[in-house]
Amino acid sequence: MKAYSALTTMCALLLAAASPAASTGSPFYGDPPDDHHPWAIHDQNRPQPKVVTPGTFSTAEQPGKPPSDAIVLFDGTEATLSKWEADKNESGVATKWIVKDGAMQCVPGSGYIRTRDKFGDCQLHVEWAALSKVQGDSQGRGNSGIFLMGICEIQVLDCYNNPTYADGFAGSVYGVNPPMANPLHPPGEFQVVDIVFRRPIYKDGKPLDPGYATVFINGVLVQDHTMLEGGTGHMRRTKPGPFPEKGPLKFQDHGNPVRYRNVWYRELTPRAVEGGTDGYLTTEATTAKRKEIAGLIRQDAEKLKDANNPLPEMLRLAESLPYDKDEATLKKVTDGFAQYAASVRQLPADKLGGKKDEVKRMSGICGYLARATVFSNDFAPKTDLEKLIKEQGWDKK
Ligand code: MG
Repeated sequence: MKAYSALTTMCALLLAAASPAASTGSPFYGDPPDDHHPWAIHDQNRPQPKVVTPGTFSTAEQPGKPPSDAIVLFDGTEATLSKWEADKNESGVATKWIVKDGAMQCVPGSGYIRTRDKFGDCQLHVEWAALSKVQGDSQGRGNSGIFLMGICEIQVLDCYNNPTYADGFAGSVYGVNPPMANPLHPPGEFQVVDIVFRRPIYKDGKPLDPGYATVFINGVLVQDHTMLEGGTGHMRRTKPGPFPEKGPLKFQDHGNPVRYRNVWYRELTPRAVEGGTDGYLTTEATTAKRKEIAGLIRQDAEKLKDANNPLPEMLRLAESLPYDKDEATLKKVTDGFAQYAASVRQLPADKLGGKKDEVKRMSGICGYLARATVFSNDFAPKTDLEKLIKEQGWDKK
């Protein structure tokens, strides 16, 4: 008999662990919001990540497909070359770079090429190849460059068996930081470059975020969140300073016919310092976000209004309180819990038994809201419900 009851308890625990509420989170569940976290842990009110259909990887012969939300800058066609122009003072001057065998190729002496599109923080994908016929050495072999916002160069250079200064290697933040590795394929083959770029952000001349670049070449990490020092330059260091919000992507004409294919980017979510929620939030920003979330929950509670069944609306309102302890909402919720505790007290013994799970849940919610400092520990309906649970022996396993 003992073994049987131990087994049923174990089954009940397993079922609880496997239940959707346990695995997907539920209200009144994880640690509540605090000064730097606007959401609770495992918060169901936190927006779901957007669905993106992934692309495919490139092979030596064939470029891959971009993910579904990527903005394509060049896909091997003449049509997408029209997304680019010559890097001149005036806008709209057609580039002299050419499209050949599905790649756009630098025509030496024609100048840099830039996108008509201007953008800032991004995940950028670029594939480049030096010509298979090796010519020149050091910085003179297969040199071009990926200029983020037209300002910050991630070096493009045929570094396959080609020594040069380290901070000018392929994958360097040029003149700032060498790549951590040299994973290049031989010349003639495409090199796959993936960049995560966060531009420097300044306000009133002061840096809020210095800006960073993370770079993979052929799947190998070469820059790990490298802090930017403003623009990059040859021989001269650039002092960190204000940066525009957006700029065109540029590829360099360094006198070598370097080829590019499969160029696309995805915009990144704004950082906390620019009003987003990506990164460390100040108390001020967290408080504002918590108020916003509470407002949305209260709007949602309106939809649950039902004179015959006031509990769902009351609990949804209660859910909003750990984000923002609004006085009017707090009053409604404390009244609601007081009415609930009084009403179960009045139930005849034969009806009370059927309320066991509900009463335990309501008591658990009171406990959660006390931990979230919405209620005090001696909040009367909370102690009432705890007392009732003990009296009924519902606290025993
Ligand atoms: Mg270069």
